[in-house]
Amino acid sequence: MIELEEAREFIFNQCLKLSTDEVEISKSRGLVLAGTVISNYDVPPFPNTAMDGYAVRAVDTEHAPVELKVIGTLPAGRIPDLEVGADEAVRIMTGAVIPEGADAVVMVEKTKEVENGSSVIVEETVKNGNFIRQPGEDFVKGSELFNSGTLIGAAHIGVFATIGLEKVTVFKRPVVGVMSTGDELVEGSSQLKPGQIRDSNRHSIKALLEEIGAEIIDLGLVPDDERAIESALLSAVEKCDAVVTSGGVSMGDFDYVKVVLDRLGEMKWMQVAIKPAKPLAFGLLNGVPIFGLPGNPVSAMVSFELFMRPALLKMMGYEQIWRPRIKAKATTPLKRRKDGKVHFARVTLTRKGDSYEVSFLEGQGSHQLAAMANAQGLAVLPDGEGVEKGDFVDVMQLTEPEID
Ligand code: AMP
Ligand code: MG
Repeated sequence: MIELEEAREFIFNQCLKLSTDEVEISKSRGLVLAGTVISNYDVPPFPNTAMDGYAVRAVDTEHAPVELKVIGTLPAGRIPDLEVGADEAVRIMTGAVIPEGADAVVMVEKTKEVENGSSVIVEETVKNGNFIRQPGEDFVKGSELFNSGTLIGAAHIGVFATIGLEKVTVFKRPVVGVMSTGDELVEGSSQLKPGQIRDSNRHSIKALLEEIGAEIIDLGLVPDDERAIESALLSAVEKCDAVVTSGGVSMGDFDYVKVVLDRLGEMKWMQVAIKPAKPLAFGLLNGVPIFGLPGNPVSAMVSFELFMRPALLKMMGYEQIWRPRIKAKATTPLKRRKDGKVHFARVTLTRKGDSYEVSFLEGQGSHQLAAMANAQGLAVLPDGEGVEKGDFVDVMQLTEPEID
């Protein structure tokens, strides 16, 4: 057996950053910038009001309350065609251009309309610049807004749109082929024949890939047949940046994924000192990373979490490739036996104020997918006897915890 860290290092060293691509900004969420974004504009582009109210000359409010003559109304989007003179005001709406002559805005709540709006009583004294948003207050033309390596989120996309960027240069979205192998596997709702089970791995792994924004190619079910596996893999690497298989990497007589990859690729066949997900095949086939995950449904998902997810995020240019790790207090004992492996137990995770609690789920077998579905995290149990109730344990967080 090899240690988890050694297996990871071997894999990550061969998973290199993908090439760059230009994508529409609406398709860029969750991708990583591959260049600096510079603004060609001042934002905001013109002085405008931050409030609904009245544009005035600050000096005219010095002896508030004062009555000013209202000479017009300015909605957002209209070019101002009037000038504010002494003892005059313009009704103005949030976002509208500040008219000539005005140097402050009084919010509507601090005014009172008189004579049907032909004049207004301003109840407070305001300073020059009051509630005026100056051009470039967000950022000025020529600003380096975001550097290469920035993970694009919703607000970044908003900024791109604000400065008229329609496309951005990013590290490519990886194209990932997903196949399940096994003669026992079938698809869909039809009655199972004796010995058959329904394929779950391809579906759970596709969902995990979707979560990180990979482009998925469903390679379907492949039987335990050396030729079929060989041709499926060879055609997959033609069109994929990475390929993931499940099943067929164990010690069984019909574990042909292992056999084929050994023959065609630069593969390493590993027994990793972890439970679940001990068997793993990884290597390059025509330069494309192949992840040969174990067949048991929990093992396949845990293997994806421990190896493939961080490897793909690295390929996508992410700097932060790890799931959050937190310390949580065990509300049940998390017992295990000493076997030379690190165990990843399916646990519920509850937030209580500033701290977290975990409890061990029933059904910890690598074939028992229901506990995986009910888990918010994987408790990391180093080799030994496990932890007692009340002890603190490291948890790899998979989803949001429950809140108590
Ligand atoms: P294997 O690694 O091919 O020996 O498979 C280990 C166990 O996982 C066996 O019980 C398989 O039937 C099961 N298994 C393999 N692939 C899948 C799959 N795609 N979906 C559900 N169970 C699977
Ligand atoms: Mg099999």
